[in-house]
Amino acid sequence: MVKVYYDQDADLKFLKNKRIAILGFGSQGHAHALNLKDSGLDVIVALRPDSKSAQKAIDAGLKVTTVSQATQDSDIIVFLIPDELQAKIYASEVKPYLKAGKALVFAHGFSIHFNQIVPPADVDVFMVAPKGPGHLVRRQFQEGKGVPCLYAIYQDASGNAFDMALAYAKGIGGTRAGVLKTTFKEETETDLFGEQAVLCGGLTSLIKAGFETLCEAGYQPELAYFEVLHEMKLIVDLIYEGGFGWMRHSISNTAEYGDLTVGPRVIGLEVKENMKKVLNDIQTGTFAKSWILENAAGQPMLNALRREAREHKIEEVGKRIRAMMSWLPKVEY
Ligand code: NDP
Ligand code: MG
Ligand code: MG
Repeated sequence: MVKVYYDQDADLKFLKNKRIAILGFGSQGHAHALNLKDSGLDVIVALRPDSKSAQKAIDAGLKVTTVSQATQDSDIIVFLIPDELQAKIYASEVKPYLKAGKALVFAHGFSIHFNQIVPPADVDVFMVAPKGPGHLVRRQFQEGKGVPCLYAIYQDASGNAFDMALAYAKGIGGTRAGVLKTTFKEETETDLFGEQAVLCGGLTSLIKAGFETLCEAGYQPELAYFEVLHEMKLIVDLIYEGGFGWMRHSISNTAEYGDLTVGPRVIGLEVKENMKKVLNDIQTGTFAKSWILENAAGQPMLNALRREAREHKIEEVGKRIRAMMSWLPKVEY
């Protein structure tokens, strides 16, 4: 069983008298910066000079400076900027100002595990990764609760990395819910696998295949959209609340019989074999290499695939159907 740490295991004193620089003020950045500040810790936010987020951070009562200045002025440097930018920003704006005894903190292990950032031996390196988006990390904290977190120690130069990681998790509210021990390797590989094979890649491919099957058989695309995409949320919400059992308890017996007998025909052994290959590509660094090269080339494949995905019929139908639903938020991106 995984070991779980709570409030009583953590002590904020390990971060007292230390300044924490939060690089980035996006999803995770705003939540960590504000929660740590509300926990009585010394926080500054680091952004590029022309940053869109800077005004938001200032309005929230935080000090904002550049990444290089924040690195010089702080003891703990937290990488809450997009993963694909971390190595470049580390090399140009963090590394030159790193001194023995400082700490590097991450919310995801990609940069460290795949050696995009190779820290000097005399700094601490640890991870505190909330298992939820930033707005939830912030809202739960304000309600006196927290989002469960993972923590991992990559390098313990000071001998205090564990205590600092737990203190950090406490500062953002994580120990109120529970903090689980992992490693950079495990967190990185399982995170990539989850988003590729199941959550994002697997799910959208499943929905798309279902939509295309119905449309190609002559059914109206609007009906197909309702049946294979719109209703997904209802089912996922039930699974999220109470597992497969609660979902199956809530659907009709016909749906449950179809679920149990037909589901394995759709997602069978072949899909699991594919998943194993996907996991192998993650473990061997094949996926990381292709993503790193893709970024170095200016994301040509990502842009082409995005355009193609935008032009799929399901997106056009979806826009019209969602416009009929007054309760949905207006999204722009
Ligand atoms: P975001 O995409 O929300 O971060 C964007 C922030 O980074 C903005 O404030 C942006 O500022 C800033 N930024 C972008 N480029 C630079 C730059 N060159 N210099 C300084 N600041 C810059 O990131 P996330 O919060 O999604 O992810 C941060 C980390 O947390 C990642 O490691 C991610 O894997 C991890 N994580 C994310 C989760 C999530 O739910 N999103 C969950 C758990 C972990 P600007 O206004 O200038 O663009
Ligand atoms: Mg991820
Ligand atoms: Mg139905």
